[in-house]
Amino acid sequence: MREEGITIERWKHANLKTGSFELDLILSRVTGRSRAEIVAHPQLKLSENQITRLNDDLRALEAGTPFAYISGKKEFFGIELEVSESVLVPRPETEILVEMVLTLAPKNATLLDLGTGSGAIALAIASERPDIKVSASDLSVSALEIAKKNARLLNLNLTFFHSNWYQSLPCRKWDLLVSNPPYVSENDPHLDALKKEPIEALTSGRDGLDAIRQIVSGSHDFLNPNGHLLIEHGFNQSEAVGRIFMTNSFENILSTKDYSGIERVKLGKFNGG
Ligand code: GLN
Repeated sequence: MREEGITIERWKHANLKTGSFELDLILSRVTGRSRAEIVAHPQLKLSENQITRLNDDLRALEAGTPFAYISGKKEFFGIELEVSESVLVPRPETEILVEMVLTLAPKNATLLDLGTGSGAIALAIASERPDIKVSASDLSVSALEIAKKNARLLNLNLTFFHSNWYQSLPCRKWDLLVSNPPYVSENDPHLDALKKEPIEALTSGRDGLDAIRQIVSGSHDFLNPNGHLLIEHGFNQSEAVGRIFMTNSFENILSTKDYSGIERVKLGKFNGG
């Protein structure tokens, strides 16, 4: 059958098992029209070339590729970020951590985002608060390339470090250390649904807490007295992360809930002792 000239409506109808919302996303991407236009004009004709590209995107979606990797873009805290399979797709719950920093950070504070990935946390903060001096680190060279590119595209001036947590950082102290580290347990069944994302950005040992333990216990040498540490954690890790903060002499420890009412970010103050 010759497919040239079929309408948006017909193409959608033939592929409805994928879900209308996702179909509109790829239709919008391939045709260069807004989602509103796609919905409002179901009789628009698709070219053969567009149909080929739509079918490629559809196959990728069906294989579990997040739409953000197909489009190469993801919106986070009001900024648009480039993403690829080298970085975790920024999640809405991570915006909680950004909001906490914006409330907490004194004027002209210094901040380091450990394991920045696409740069989401660091760049969102830098774009909201030009007074804050933002640094960001990652172990992955390809992630750092993306974060640097995002900084360039957003015209934001950050300092980047290639480092495995604290290992290769310069001898410096910050007012705020923040991180959305890998925190999923190695054998968590949910990982199956995340198989297109970089595993090293997701899992961290048997209980998922290896990276958090390392970040908290190493933080003293890199935090100014009265500085703060903020870490995103898993839905069932609040108590355990609270204990890790306490054992490492953090004070005024508190948790913030995400949009689903789950404690998701831990904050602690370093007394400098
Ligand atoms: N929140 C992510 C998820 O469960 C995990 C992100 C992370 O490990 N930092 O999908």
